[in-house]
Amino acid sequence: MIYIGSHVSMKAPDYMLGSIREALSYDANACMIYTGAPQNSRRVPIGKFKLDEAKKLMEANHFQMERVIVHAPYIINLANSVKPETAQFGVEFLSEELKRVSQIGAKTLVLHPGAHMKAGVETGSQWIVNGLNEVLDQDESDIVIALETMAGKGSEIGSRFEELAAIIDQIHKKERVKVCLDTCHIHDAGYDLTQFDQVLEQFDQILGLENLAVLHINDSKNERGARKDRHENIGSGHIGFETLVRIVHHPKLDDITKILETPYIDSRPPYKEEIARLLAWKE
Ligand code: FE
Ligand code: FE
Ligand code: ZN
Repeated sequence: MIYIGSHVSMKAPDYMLGSIREALSYDANACMIYTGAPQNSRRVPIGKFKLDEAKKLMEANHFQMERVIVHAPYIINLANSVKPETAQFGVEFLSEELKRVSQIGAKTLVLHPGAHMKAGVETGSQWIVNGLNEVLDQDESDIVIALETMAGKGSEIGSRFEELAAIIDQIHKKERVKVCLDTCHIHDAGYDLTQFDQVLEQFDQILGLENLAVLHINDSKNERGARKDRHENIGSGHIGFETLVRIVHHPKLDDITKILETPYIDSRPPYKEEIARLLAWKE
């Protein structure tokens, strides 16, 4: 079984109910939501999310709660040692976010590891470790934080599997921190997705395949190694349909939730068509 969907909106008046409706309209059996706008920290109370109605709709459509992925907002930067108040804000927001994810009933929270703001990968990574430990030591849920592989633009940490492994190695509750692999990001970071079995082999050796929690399936507007992070529609970019579809259908990734974050085309979401094309493929 392939579990595939896209990011969907989470907005007034229907919130989670609207998100699930949107996912179903794409014939998806998975989705990714933000608990509010990804660029800010304003959040409405979960009481407004229409969760009960959403859950009924999910049940009626055999849409599993474990296939609802939550993405933390981009403003969280645990690595910011240059502005400690930003890192501290990230710790507090992340704690609150875990509570929201738990109220929703979702199991996985995707988080960008952070940017070191020129303090260096080592310092930034240590701040990420400390921030994550501070949050997780006090959190009793079993929600998994999936650190996303990054393109390496600016001072982003996490564009090499080794950088993520160095962080996870120092986490107290290791079972709570896994990885979200974004195809656009690792392509932009320099990994050759045409040799995907080798990439997966590296991932397994450095991070362990059992620690792969989520896949983001995106094409890229840029050449391999460009360190840009500009997503492109499936088959229209430098990764290409053939490579992406083989990742989606890869037997070792069967149970991993796959999420599209490709751009709208002429102000319309492309997800229904992209999902259908990816699923229809036969070798
Ligand atoms: Fe992301
Ligand atoms: Fe992503
Ligand atoms: Zn991206």
